[in-house]
Amino acid sequence: MTYQAKIVPSGESFQIDAEESVLDAGLRQGIALAYGCRHGNCSTCKYFLEAGEVDHGGASIYSLTEAEREEGFALLCCARPLSDLVIATRGETDPRSLPLVTPSARVGTVAGVTQVTPSLWQLTLELDAPLKFYPGQFVELQAHDGGGWRSYSIASSPAHGSRLEFVMKHVASGMFSGALPTMTRGTSMALRGPFGMSYLRAGAAPVLLVATGAGIAPLLSILEDAMEREDPRRFELFYGARTAADLPLAAHMDSYATRLGDRFSYRPTLSRAAPEWAGRRGRVTSALQHEIADASHYDAYLCGAPHMCDIVGTLLEAKGIRDNQLFYDKFHPAS
Ligand SMILES: Cc1cc2nc3c(=O)[nH]c(=O)nc-3n(C[C@H](O)[C@H](O)[C@H](O)COP(=O)(O)OP(=O)(O)OC[C@H]3O[C@@H](n4cnc5c(N)ncnc54)[C@H](O)[C@@H]3O)c2cc1C
Repeated sequence: MTYQAKIVPSGESFQIDAEESVLDAGLRQGIALAYGCRHGNCSTCKYFLEAGEVDHGGASIYSLTEAEREEGFALLCCARPLSDLVIATRGETDPRSLPLVTPSARVGTVAGVTQVTPSLWQLTLELDAPLKFYPGQFVELQAHDGGGWRSYSIASSPAHGSRLEFVMKHVASGMFSGALPTMTRGTSMALRGPFGMSYLRAGAAPVLLVATGAGIAPLLSILEDAMEREDPRRFELFYGARTAADLPLAAHMDSYATRLGDRFSYRPTLSRAAPEWAGRRGRVTSALQHEIADASHYDAYLCGAPHMCDIVGTLLEAKGIRDNQLFYDKFHPAS
């Protein structure tokens, strides 16, 4: 069974199979819809349905309340059509957004897997065919044949679309990441993508990059891309960790400093620093609070734990940054 969806006020329309989500159908047909986690957790894809009925699927009650469902709102990443739909947008698009890359399927083969901090691992996958993506986007990897799909940001440059790098947090009970310590070269897995709206936009403003934990991943892709394209902007990376041992990929930071010169600054800050640590102490929010007086002239990319992204976003808004200069990559757990 196939249904028809119409977007107002643009008048665009697309077809939705009864078994697929409204978001997947739109992306498949090149319709630029706002979205984030794709698992019903972040609310970015919440739209008002002017007409039609959907099954809300796995939308969490926190992201889409009962009252919102009754009013006619839906999370498009979870919603499956039960009739034709009319989807209302505010008619605003980001003038700096790039043409949608239609997601497609690949097979990735493990070419390397290395532990880089006590909790983070670096995974390299060779793909069966190159993947086009923008720096900052993510893909979904299937944990095992028939297993769940997990979102991971690409940590390497779009110039190397056949060999993707990732930085992953190891969760012992994790369906995907739990297998990292025993994963071997040659293991293959299904991959689909690219997804995500939090990719590097063109512009003249300096770029503020903020991450904790595995949130460094999409920022590495942005920095690799900036280095390769000789992007003239200034990139300021604030990274929060607990201890010096939790700071990943020092060699990458050194190479950005060498290649980008004073267009790159790396500002790690430690919340549980040892006495001998000579750098910044405290959380990433306090480093930003002290070191960014006026955020209005930056583009900012905030990546990692959703709570950290929200706090930093609020802080930067208080320091003058506007909505259209702020890009979030919130790492909501899939389950
Ligand atoms: C757009 C996007 C991009 C992402 N990019 C990355 C990335 O580049 N690197 C990365 O490491 N993660 C990333 N994530 C987060 C990652 O997809 C989830 O954490 C995912 O659930 C991990 O799968 P898993 O198999 O390890 O654990 P699961 O099987 O999903 O979960 C097992 C248990 O661990 C808990 N859990 C899962 N993840 C975490 C976590 N991060 N912290 C604490 N508890 C957790 C779950 O709630 C559950 O109880 C991203 C998420 C999104 C939405």
